[in-house]
Amino acid sequence: MRILLTNDDGIHAPGFAVLERIAAKLSDDVWVCAPSEEQSGAGHSLTLHQPIRLQEHGERRFAVTGTPTDAVNFALRKLLLDQRPDLVLSGVNAGENLGDDITYSGTASAAMEAALAGIPAIALSQAFRNRGHRFDATEGWAARVLAPLVALAKDHALARRTLVNVNFPAVPAEEVKGIRVVRQGFHDYSRGSLVEGTDPRGKRYYWFGLQSFEHTLDHGTDLEAVAEGYVSVTPLQLDLTHYPAIDQLAGAFAS
Ligand code: MN
Repeated sequence: MRILLTNDDGIHAPGFAVLERIAAKLSDDVWVCAPSEEQSGAGHSLTLHQPIRLQEHGERRFAVTGTPTDAVNFALRKLLLDQRPDLVLSGVNAGENLGDDITYSGTASAAMEAALAGIPAIALSQAFRNRGHRFDATEGWAARVLAPLVALAKDHALARRTLVNVNFPAVPAEEVKGIRVVRQGFHDYSRGSLVEGTDPRGKRYYWFGLQSFEHTLDHGTDLEAVAEGYVSVTPLQLDLTHYPAIDQLAGAFAS
């Protein structure tokens, strides 16, 4: 099984080393094409107004000077053009990608890009509460989480144009309570802090801060599962259509 690895924290991120260790246990045909620098918050953006450069970091191990979407695109259009991967793994992100944060996430968006290309894709993120047990839950639980998903991918049994979003809770591996397959939750809208200051040349600047966002825990969601110490597994689709509103809007335009 050929596996392509990518992320949004950049090829040198600690979580990417975790992903490479996880992937090495799944296959000996592993390729890397990740952003050269951190791209957290890049969402599903493409680099269109400047070239991207390829950096070679070893055998089957590459970085591009672009976004996570660029990295997957480049891998599929160039590096692996005639040998498509059977699976794309994105992560392991330093920080959770839950609820509506998924649309900001470069980690999830890299998996979306693979899904659009018809390739099974899994996004992996590790929630943090403190720095004491970084990636501990991921290291302890990734094999258990990935085994059934990889089996489905091998059987071509995952729904096309979908991806699987996996989040590991912010607890030590031995405190993880289990795995829950749940739906995407939603935060109450608040985008954290906006820091204001003056730069060394006397000009005002504004800087978005990333705090943990407020949310009302809704039952059966990814937010609830991770908050309660479970690994959340959520199948996501790229069809954003709100089907119940189609008839309503069609009616509004009919008169
Ligand atoms: Mn990130």
